[in-house]
Amino acid sequence: MNRTLDLSERQKKILEIVKENGPITGEQIADQLHVTRATLRPDLAILTMSGFLDARPRVGYFYTGKTPSKLLTDRLKRMTVKAYQSIPVVIQEGASAYDAICTMFLEDVGTLFVVNKDAVLTGVLSRKDLLRASIGNQNLNAIPVSVIMSRMPNITTCKSTDLVIDVAKLLIQRQIDGLPVVRETDKGLEVIGRITKTNITKAFLELAEGEIE
Ligand code: ADP
Repeated sequence: MNRTLDLSERQKKILEIVKENGPITGEQIADQLHVTRATLRPDLAILTMSGFLDARPRVGYFYTGKTPSKLLTDRLKRMTVKAYQSIPVVIQEGASAYDAICTMFLEDVGTLFVVNKDAVLTGVLSRKDLLRASIGNQNLNAIPVSVIMSRMPNITTCKSTDLVIDVAKLLIQRQIDGLPVVRETDKGLEVIGRITKTNITKAFLELAEGEIE
């Protein structure tokens, strides 16, 4: 994999040569390093794919001038929610707190999105909301989730075209674990996905491992 920030000694040498002599052909770089053109092919591919170098036919390689941190920022700004969101788990607002606990266990999620009969988002239910409702031996079968959830319009949502980095900012600012990904309909907001700290951690890992083009 093309680990952008982990260049080999030879790749660093290639960068230096191109910085000083570019535009320069692969053949000329190979001559300077006393290796064959074929030996350099994978290194040149990595350096162009990761954005350090650019190549023009019949001209050669030249240095793009982008620093590793600029390249990383470019990639972050290309990562949208759509590629990282997962399937949302929703519950009807009339369901009981007891049902909500069962759904969380069965679906293995920490947050449920609450919807009305038109499948429109009306609230969010977290683990702590359920723990709070459980204090004091109340009958959890008799408490509808609509009573204990966080409700619209105070729900933070995002669209699948939003940037992952902007969602990360919201999660930190609002101290929450995830957001519903929504689409506007004439009835209200329809939940089409969810993006959580786990999704974002995964994206972060892919970025570190250079798997994002
Ligand atoms: P937990 O309560 O399990 O730690 P969170 O930190 O996500 O989980 O939730 C904290 C509080 O914020 C809860 O009361 C929850 O209902 C509310 N909450 C969670 N997600 C959102 C959201 N996207 N918009 C508004 N409120 C939310």
